[in-house]
Amino acid sequence: MKRKLLSNLFAAVIVSYATSVFSEPPHWDHTEQETWWSLQDTSQAPPLSFPFAECGVGQHQSPIDLAKAKIEGTEVNPLEISYPVDNAPVFFNTGHAIQVNTSSGYTGHLKIGEESFPLTQFHFHEPSEHVVGTTSFPAELHYVHVKSDGRLVVLAVAINLGDQNPVFQTILDNMPPDSGGKNQNSGLQFDPAALLPKLDQPIQYFTLAGSLTTPPCSEGVQWYILPKLITISDAQLTQLKSFYANNNRLPQEVNGRNILTGK
Ligand SMILES: [Zn+2]
Repeated sequence: MKRKLLSNLFAAVIVSYATSVFSEPPHWDHTEQETWWSLQDTSQAPPLSFPFAECGVGQHQSPIDLAKAKIEGTEVNPLEISYPVDNAPVFFNTGHAIQVNTSSGYTGHLKIGEESFPLTQFHFHEPSEHVVGTTSFPAELHYVHVKSDGRLVVLAVAINLGDQNPVFQTILDNMPPDSGGKNQNSGLQFDPAALLPKLDQPIQYFTLAGSLTTPPCSEGVQWYILPKLITISDAQLTQLKSFYANNNRLPQEVNGRNILTGK
């Protein structure tokens, strides 16, 4: 009996070891975005075997065609963007986008009303994910903020072609070429606020409920979209594409969501 118990325990340990060590989310890429929901993790039993199900069944998915949602002018929370210089930014080639992670201890945050959301990373999509009718933009910048309770807020900025952007060039120049590569020893100080458009006070924005635009497409993400654009040059767009091209999710159903904006 003791031996039986021991062998059961042993088996349980092996199983938990196998699921914790060998279970990895399925590989995905943007070319197969219509079927992200169906990608399977065969090491898991249902429903965990479909870790990206929300991409298919979610009702508040991002991005959207902003022209398809009703825009409501109302009293909205004031937005305060506080992105000081980061002394140890990490230039991270995620395998899906070029990204800059803020250093641990970085104090930058987005303040919405009385609540602060720490800035954890920012990254780029080519072309834009949010569109307005038939108009899309050459690229889109997402500042991602995660609060300690797990809530996510993304600040989105559309990118147009125009003047060369020296701040964006610093990111391109320090980005590792290979998927998964991290450059954490650039020795650079980086100012995330230097990528923002010139903003009036109070800051104008559009906000709506949405999701992550990449698997697992988790909902509960509040989006803040700035109406002002920034620019990069044609040559810089070509460089961005040499890392990742067409890493944009296509617009999702609005499903009755409203966009709120200040009066
Ligand atoms: Zn994004």
